[in-house]
Amino acid sequence: MCGISAIASHKPVAKLLLKSLQNLEYRGYDSCGMALFDDQEIKLRKNIGNVNEVNSIERFEEMTGHLGIAHTRWATHGGVTPENSHPHFSSDNNFVIVHNGIFSNYQVIKASLQAKGHQFRSQTDTEVFANLLQEEYSICQDVETAFCNALNKLEGSYAIAMLSVFQPDTIFAVKKDSPLVLGINDGVNFVSSDMNAFISETRDTVLINDYEYVTMTNDAFQVKSLSDNLTISKQIIHVQWDRETAQRGGFSHYMLKEIFDQPQTVRQTLHISAQEIETIAKKFIDKPQSFCVGVGTTYYVAMIGTYLFSKYADLYVPSISADEFPTLIPVNADQHVLFFSQSGETYDTRMAIRAATQAGAATSAVVNVVGSSISQEVDDCIFQGSGPEICVVSTKAALSQIVILWQIALRVGVLRNHLTEEQAESHRKRLFDFSGLVEKMINEESGFIRDLAKNTSHVRNWLFMGRGIFYPIALESALKMKEVTYVHAEGLPAGFLKHGTLAMVDENMYSLFFLPSRGDSELFHATLMAIEEVKARNGKVIAFCTQDDTEVQRLLDHYFVIPETEPEMTPLVEMVIAQLFSYYSALNLGLNIDKPRNLAKSVTVG
Ligand code: GLU
Repeated sequence: MCGISAIASHKPVAKLLLKSLQNLEYRGYDSCGMALFDDQEIKLRKNIGNVNEVNSIERFEEMTGHLGIAHTRWATHGGVTPENSHPHFSSDNNFVIVHNGIFSNYQVIKASLQAKGHQFRSQTDTEVFANLLQEEYSICQDVETAFCNALNKLEGSYAIAMLSVFQPDTIFAVKKDSPLVLGINDGVNFVSSDMNAFISETRDTVLINDYEYVTMTNDAFQVKSLSDNLTISKQIIHVQWDRETAQRGGFSHYMLKEIFDQPQTVRQTLHISAQEIETIAKKFIDKPQSFCVGVGTTYYVAMIGTYLFSKYADLYVPSISADEFPTLIPVNADQHVLFFSQSGETYDTRMAIRAATQAGAATSAVVNVVGSSISQEVDDCIFQGSGPEICVVSTKAALSQIVILWQIALRVGVLRNHLTEEQAESHRKRLFDFSGLVEKMINEESGFIRDLAKNTSHVRNWLFMGRGIFYPIALESALKMKEVTYVHAEGLPAGFLKHGTLAMVDENMYSLFFLPSRGDSELFHATLMAIEEVKARNGKVIAFCTQDDTEVQRLLDHYFVIPETEPEMTPLVEMVIAQLFSYYSALNLGLNIDKPRNLAKSVTVG
């Protein structure tokens, strides 16, 4: 998840392109670069660092040309090096591209291109597309056809901008599961990951959908469908946002933007290559014992993993909070530990890695930041590629980690002969469906969730409860509520309630129950019993249920409507609704949502 920008103009474009990069920098910032068509060839400059650092070395504004593409990178494949920075040339330097996303089948294509003699200069998945373009062009001798044919061979998520010496007045762009918009102005047109890139120049934009591609010159643009190459007529939308609002994608806070980013970031993780998942899954087989470790939200992610391994792989994988790991676990060389960290710098997690490494255990991690300490300290690492999470509390990074963990658990299930390949694939498909469902749900239900947050804004004490996998979901949701509202929310297993906490319940105590779908019959009825226990003491109860479940609704003071879905996906659906509930609760209290008091994004101290 990075920023791409491309501009076609009747005037020199380097300064404008540099400005657009500076405006996109918040999306990703480990390296950046630019390529311009100039004097019959493409000139390219790129390096590692933030935009200003790189510009002081590469002097982007001194480049000449009327057409260019640019990029700020959030690495997913290949370290943070000058070679891996974008743009990427094809071997013959006739095509140059910038890419946001992940090509999931890049290894296979790279091998076949290498066999045909293509030279690769980077470790990225992106460079494969540049060489594939060259290859396709050699067959059809037409840039647009080559662009479409190359895209048809690639799987994954992408927003791409491309320039070719064979059609030097045109920028080509395309999107699938990564954002892309056009900016339209007199004699200058823009294409970018978001309108921040050009909002100071024009507010006339065109939104591009998945599987649509764009051909753009300085005075015209065309949007076509990738499936049949037919032109799609597009409306130009005039946006009114100021710059700061634009940076938050029009949302009032980064937290809300990042919640809404989730369909895309979840899909992105579903494009992580099978090979990367397999490498980590195998460790659960090779070692007699494994653990999942994180701290704060990532501890709850790890705990969700415990339930997933149990369900899909028939394997007990204890989850441990990283701060307790060194004192609690007599770690040894027969063990494997899978760590979770958003920043890759979390001190407590690093100390746990140190303990595991010193004892000779195998280590692996899921992190969001390439080149971070944790990614270098473990044996194997999956980069989730969720892009920077600016709000201090984690939403999209956490959900994406859960989806990666889900894929690992499914794979371990297959390796342990607990699942067939077909079963694992159909579970994986549900994760894809889930990303679409989240999109629909957050768009349709936000208003309702906001109203409920308003109705409960006086509540000072919450119990958040669930059973089975809904228990760690309740814990994570309670943490979210505490972090952004400073209101006390205690997460606990619903079955635990009657063993003590029930003493607190009276008409002033509010309980939120993470009720499973009816399809999850045993868990559903067990959770319902706890709801009855609270109602019998006049406690207030809110729960999640489907629209037509009047039998449950009559028990409740309020309820969140969850869409009809596979019972398996209900925990994640409820987690997303609970994120929105915390957000709107904090909004009602007028708090500093993106920077809650006393908290830091990356906790690098012990
Ligand atoms: N997968 C590409 C890379 O690692 C693009 C990452 C991005 O979206 O910035 O270079």
